Amino acid sequence: MEYLAANNRYDQMQYKRCGNSGIKLPLFSLGLWHNFGQVEPLQKGRSILRKAFDLGVTHFDLANNYGPPYGSAEENFGVIFQKDFVPYRQELFLSSKAGYDMWAGPYGDWGSRKYLVSSCDQSLKRMQVDYVDLFYSHRYDPETPLYETMSALDFIVRSGRALYAGISNYPPEQTQKAINILKDLGTPCLIHQTKYSMLERTAEKGLLDVLGENGVGCIAFSPLAQGLLSDKYLKGVPDDSRAGKSYGYLWPKDINEKVIAKIEKLNEMADSRKQTLAQMALAWLLKDNRISSVLIGVSSVAQLENSLAATQYLNFSQEELERIEQILA
Ligand code: NDP
Repeated sequence: MEYLAANNRYDQMQYKRCGNSGIKLPLFSLGLWHNFGQVEPLQKGRSILRKAFDLGVTHFDLANNYGPPYGSAEENFGVIFQKDFVPYRQELFLSSKAGYDMWAGPYGDWGSRKYLVSSCDQSLKRMQVDYVDLFYSHRYDPETPLYETMSALDFIVRSGRALYAGISNYPPEQTQKAINILKDLGTPCLIHQTKYSMLERTAEKGLLDVLGENGVGCIAFSPLAQGLLSDKYLKGVPDDSRAGKSYGYLWPKDINEKVIAKIEKLNEMADSRKQTLAQMALAWLLKDNRISSVLIGVSSVAQLENSLAATQYLNFSQEELERIEQILA
């Protein structure tokens, strides 16, 4: 059926400036790492993308190797984009990345100019778009000169393949160097994409300071620690959950008694706030003003609606924040 975006799509979502840039991002963006590959029904991904856009999610995040198999999330996105989103291209902020293994041989991994530029070309074809809004170096490559990787990003932007450049998974020191190089090249670093959740707080050890001081945005990925920060695993591992699937990146061994004990307490606290644990965990990330957007993943429209409703209650009292720290300690 033909898709007509909801007329009220900008009524609920809030938008926040990404660092010192001209770009505003929705408080919640949608990632296509899981749930959009060839192993999933296309119709499910299509329903999620339609509903997300109807609820004001303007930013969709992809990468060359999202699937499985690699490339298939971009391919499926391309099919859905052509069917539903072509009239809305200028309202969308699309990203892709290269940096992890993608194809065999020495040119399909890490941070060379050869890999980044050719992978970007492939992503544009699979996604069936003329350009992406943002292209990332997906991880720091200790063996390639940083200047080469950053000048590849600069070239990707200057050649019209992308409008902005970003980095992901870079440690603080290399982040500062990358920011400096990109600034000198005249293509400022828009954003850093980092893993950040109540259960994964490495970003607090220097990275957020570097980003804040340089006016670079930050988008937090795996904000629910891949689903752990919900009530889903409190009674074991459901077959249809990420940890229950053979192709997820969350394994039953990650769900140990120690983690579950914390999740039980967090779940009770969320209940007292009249929120789900997922909503509380998402809201908690936005208490730091340096976070430009929280990058969620969902396996159903119901999860999407539940997660986006976190915007209805984002505030925390000092006592609540302290209680969370006690639980997580
Ligand atoms: P999350 O931590 O949000 O985990 C998503 C999973 O959590 C869902 O698949 C679902 O699990 C569960 N879930 C989501 N919403 C709810 C809800 N409301 N209630 C209960 N359970 C819920 O994020 P992801 O790990 O999926 O990462 C998000 C995005 O971040 C990716 O799509 C990608 O764009 C980006 N990313 C970037 C990386 C990088 O290196 N730059 C690496 C990893 C991710 P279930 O499937 O079991 O139902």
